[in-house]
Amino acid sequence: MTQAMFRVLVIEDDLHIRSVLRTLLESAGYRVELAETAARGLIEARANRPDAVLIDLGLPDRDGQQLVRDIRQFSTVPLLVLSARSAEQQKIMALDSGADDYVTKPFDAGELLARLRAALRRNVRSADQSEVLAIGRLTVDLARREARESGVPIHLTPLEFRLLEVLARSLGLIVTQEQVMRQVWGPERLDDTRRLRSYIKLLRQKIEPDPARPRFLVTEAGVGYRLISQAPSI
Ligand code: CA
Repeated sequence: MTQAMFRVLVIEDDLHIRSVLRTLLESAGYRVELAETAARGLIEARANRPDAVLIDLGLPDRDGQQLVRDIRQFSTVPLLVLSARSAEQQKIMALDSGADDYVTKPFDAGELLARLRAALRRNVRSADQSEVLAIGRLTVDLARREARESGVPIHLTPLEFRLLEVLARSLGLIVTQEQVMRQVWGPERLDDTRRLRSYIKLLRQKIEPDPARPRFLVTEAGVGYRLISQAPSI
């Protein structure tokens, strides 16, 4: 599917932001549908089956987190939330309710488009089990459960690989601490963030060129982690 065919539903009550988003997305080749309220957005999401949805968390008629849950009842559509910079807890709740990522307002256009592309890829990837991902000089074969750096196998323990896999399945997207812990260790001891941090550190020592300055397995302070395929140029 070419990008020109992707339809993005934007649910945002602020007229100005709505029009900025429309211009930005259309100039990037997306088709855009707009909704001003959560109620309208829910109807559009159900009726028109967009390829991705952007949701403002500050909507007048419904809590954004509730809207995320409502959409997740019937759809696995890639879902990004827009939120204020300070609303850390709100972001985490939206992510744990099933949003794929968030973009902070005022948003950077390039960042928003990159997150959207990553979310659209996540949806394509989940249909394809035999995939190999490139992360810097690393290739990760999820089906064969191996990781190589410049062709040379890297030894990862089963837990380390599981951790890498959980992050790689959302490549480019944020995964909350709770989501990582739930998927790696199960629902018990979800508060054991110290264990999580120590495993992140171990994994970085194996996959980062400079583990003290991670460029691929990035911490999103207070929220979670993001694995990115291409480190930003520094
Ligand atoms: Ca708003």
